[in-house]
Amino acid sequence: MKRLREGGLLVCVMTRVITMYAAPPQDIVATQDIEKRVDALLKQMTVEEKLGQMSQSTAMASPISDEIKQQIRAGRWGSFLNAGSPADRREAQRIAMKESRLGIPLIFGRDVIHGYQTIFPIPLGQSASWDRDLISQAAREAALEATADGIHWAFAPMIDIARDPRWGRVAESLGEDPYLTSELGSAMIHGFQGSALNEATSLAACAKHFAGYGAAEGGRDYNSAWIPEILLRDVYLRPFQAAREAGVATFMTAFNTVNGVPATADPFLLREILRHEWKFDGVVVSDYEALTNLIAHGYATDARDAARRSLLAGVDMEMVSTAYFDHMKELLAANRVQMAEIDESVRNILRLKFRLGLFDGRRPSANQSNGNALTTAEKLATESVVLLKNKNSVLPLNPTIGRIAVIGPLADSPADQVGTWAMDADASRARTPLAALREMLGAGRVAYTPALRSSRDNSTAGFAEALRIASEADAVLLFLGEDAVLSGEARSRAFLNLPGAQEELVDKIVETGKPVIGIILAGRPLTFHKVAEKLDAVMYAWHPGAMGGPAIARLVFGQTIPSGKLTMSFPRTVGQVPIYYAHLSTGRPPVQEELGVPMGTPENPKDYTSRYIDVDFTPEYPFGYGLSYTTFRYSATRASKSQMTSSGAVTIEADIKNDGPRDADEIVQLYVNGPIGGSAARPVRELKGFERVHLKAGETKTVRFSVRRSDLAYYHGRMIFSAESGSYQAWVAPDAARGIPITLVVE
Ligand code: BGC
Repeated sequence: MKRLREGGLLVCVMTRVITMYAAPPQDIVATQDIEKRVDALLKQMTVEEKLGQMSQSTAMASPISDEIKQQIRAGRWGSFLNAGSPADRREAQRIAMKESRLGIPLIFGRDVIHGYQTIFPIPLGQSASWDRDLISQAAREAALEATADGIHWAFAPMIDIARDPRWGRVAESLGEDPYLTSELGSAMIHGFQGSALNEATSLAACAKHFAGYGAAEGGRDYNSAWIPEILLRDVYLRPFQAAREAGVATFMTAFNTVNGVPATADPFLLREILRHEWKFDGVVVSDYEALTNLIAHGYATDARDAARRSLLAGVDMEMVSTAYFDHMKELLAANRVQMAEIDESVRNILRLKFRLGLFDGRRPSANQSNGNALTTAEKLATESVVLLKNKNSVLPLNPTIGRIAVIGPLADSPADQVGTWAMDADASRARTPLAALREMLGAGRVAYTPALRSSRDNSTAGFAEALRIASEADAVLLFLGEDAVLSGEARSRAFLNLPGAQEELVDKIVETGKPVIGIILAGRPLTFHKVAEKLDAVMYAWHPGAMGGPAIARLVFGQTIPSGKLTMSFPRTVGQVPIYYAHLSTGRPPVQEELGVPMGTPENPKDYTSRYIDVDFTPEYPFGYGLSYTTFRYSATRASKSQMTSSGAVTIEADIKNDGPRDADEIVQLYVNGPIGGSAARPVRELKGFERVHLKAGETKTVRFSVRRSDLAYYHGRMIFSAESGSYQAWVAPDAARGIPITLVVE
């Protein structure tokens, strides 16, 4: 999306993100040069050296053992992941380049997921900022820190569509929507990779997990995904295609099966779509031991079969397991694989190493972050917090308030607030809410007790002290949620409620009659309907990263204004999952009033609609939802013309007025539905544009989105990608549940 400013007018032009593979002439020369250098190396390499390049290991402990040094000398490994100290990596690289026969450099990969030493909010939290530039900036800061420690490759962004909050890895995702994930994932890629891969501060990014990992049945990690091809292409693959167009250097395969075939050995995904249709010439790495997992899948008969099937599908590098190295020679000898197939993978790997400048004296960068990372971390944490409830404008609290009680196990837990995937976190950089509040108000005005030892604690032994400090305070800040270990990989939950005795804690504290503000730190959408009813205000802060503390403290006291909006629909109860806004209408759409057992019968089907008899069919909080300390008024949506020709664009716009008392940001969303009467039923709404705008108190801005026919395209029939003619609807709206549409006829 291209943004142009014209006075008070914000014009958002929907253009695809920069296509980095439309290379300018000097890049073509460089590319030809790289291909020649790869050819020259390939000619000299033994089979073992080729298989070494295709092998990635974690086995480089600190200090590096003599055995591993010898293996590096022999060209046994092309890459290490999550291994060694910065000094070890320097030494390993020296050995590879100076003491191995061909001097081929190693590539060091690492899970730099949401920051390196400075941890930003979890990706799901980042996505709630809807702020492309800031998310890109955070990835840049992470790259500055990680490259200074000799890392070349980040296993991020994770751009799996996440529609099931039971799945622990939603924390690492950018939410449920393919357009938003495409935009924010591409922003991260640009941030990691910088302006050119061979710069000292650039990290190769990795689009993962290809594909369908987020559609795990039952939200159980690693579970099977069944995704019809139309849905696969229209929803699950879109962010990956956008990543490809953004120039992402690498892809990682997924652990799961898609329609019965493990993604790590799926020629349809890896060869037909990624290589053939999308013309990807970077590296495809497997996920962790995903090759040998093919045996447990019941897909490969043994490791040799796994090696063959993954190679033929197009996996270039094997992560951790050693099926390639152990079996490829036999497979070659038996004529079960061809040298050309191995060469193709080695070529992809060497090409990446050349692109990164590893052959040409690339050195660890100097860390130029200069503390900017902490500023970015606080800004992103601030923008990611979503205000869900604010009864009687209890927030912001008045800074002259007397005493506050800070209660809860997550108020002062640096390890929990950074969330999942924070193995390199510098603990000394994390500022907790308690520390920030004490600094802001003075320790004398802040009483604190954790009440529970962790979010999972069932003991009520600490409640008496919590009640005591709550009853002596003028307001209570209750920090609730999930410990970091409850979300992330292999952390699926079947219950989505606040764990431990937290709900009882809320019951006790609200009995004091004091204003009680719930601040939830969590890695996923939780269900807390009854709790929210009792609290005066609810802020959802995710796992907000190192600077979560100051960000929350300032928001609570109105030094900053909440502006985040949800990127996953929040269910009322786990029984509604999966629940997402871009669903189809069904032939019997429900209406709000119909709760309870239907009045009709199958013969006379009154109230026989697509709903639940025991809970409202709508989410607790819809996609795109979030409150502010001010209010925004949206005018009716307008279109520059009511007809769209095949070549022309239509501008869809609305005036947004800040008619409340505070200057603040609003995230304005463009949704489209249609066509009615096409060859398939279409989602009730789909996000097609968004913009974060700043509005002074009383100010009005017109937010415009320029939509072309190609922006409306979707897959239909036999995988045709086009926008069919017909009647569409468009909304400029504050969230996915509000707004009144206008009609747009596409010729
Ligand atoms: C995860 C990947 C990660 C890899 C390396 C796997 O278990 O699924 O996302 O990059 O481990 O740590």
